[in-house]
Amino acid sequence: MTATTILQPGQIEAGAPDIPELRLPPPDLFTTRARRLRQLSEGHALGDYLLFIASLIEAQQTALKGLPDLPAVDATLLARCYTHQMPPLAPAGWQRDPVWRRLARELAGALSPVANDTARKALARIMDASDAWLEAQADTILSGQREELDVACAPVIGAALQIYWTRVAASLAPGQVARPEHPNLCPVCGSHPVASVVRIGGSEGGLRYLQCTLCSSEWHVVRAKCSNCDNSKGIAYYTVEGDAGVVRAEACPQCESYLKVAYMDKDPHAEAMADDLASFALDVLMGEQGYSRSGINFFMVHGDAAGS
Ligand SMILES: [Zn+2]
Ligand SMILES: [Zn+2]
Repeated sequence: MTATTILQPGQIEAGAPDIPELRLPPPDLFTTRARRLRQLSEGHALGDYLLFIASLIEAQQTALKGLPDLPAVDATLLARCYTHQMPPLAPAGWQRDPVWRRLARELAGALSPVANDTARKALARIMDASDAWLEAQADTILSGQREELDVACAPVIGAALQIYWTRVAASLAPGQVARPEHPNLCPVCGSHPVASVVRIGGSEGGLRYLQCTLCSSEWHVVRAKCSNCDNSKGIAYYTVEGDAGVVRAEACPQCESYLKVAYMDKDPHAEAMADDLASFALDVLMGEQGYSRSGINFFMVHGDAAGS
């Protein structure tokens, strides 16, 4: 299937009844993401920061591999959520395993040798923190609040939560998760997307998937339609001038928000989280145009590349 630039919502999907609606996170997710970020860091104005985050993501993969088996998700909870089209792993209703705190301390320890002085102080705060402080920071991040947030520690604490949620999400089967009525949030955990990817190959070719910022699941949402408010009128695409066009901002005139789309037919290695972070210049441009981000990236805090 070839990609088309101008589409009506649902146009590609018509006549393709067997679309995989949900792609649960693959076991090598963080390896692929870190590799992409290293590639994008070459010659990049924020290259040092991208390399630091690539090291953090590599530490995520190591921690994920070392994570022991977790208890299976309760079948009654899964069935109830399915019936009501609710995300079963929503942070507000899910008792997260304290093992995530060990992951946060592990990541902080792994990053210390490659961190600058400022970052090393933040990493030391995480390693020395009480369980209660870590839990409070996690609650702040997961509820999207800014008050009480330790901005310098947030990327590492967010990264630890990602490992844990990614592991639990990967233990599910797509058929256990219901398609929500309005798919603006992750069907698995109810979190915001970080960005979206138009995929290539097989039954997914030409389809747009939103990637969850927390559990890394990807869910299908038709193209040329605002994923924030469902509007499909007047959707516009922005790129930074002179850019290769791998990443574009899909902007909605109705709710004045945008979500980035990365196109695998322009670069087969495109990855939502990595390409989002490396296209920070597009966020600056969109802010100047009066649009706000609907995607959330734990490695940027409120539009600022954290720690840079
Ligand atoms: Zn999710
Ligand atoms: Zn909208």
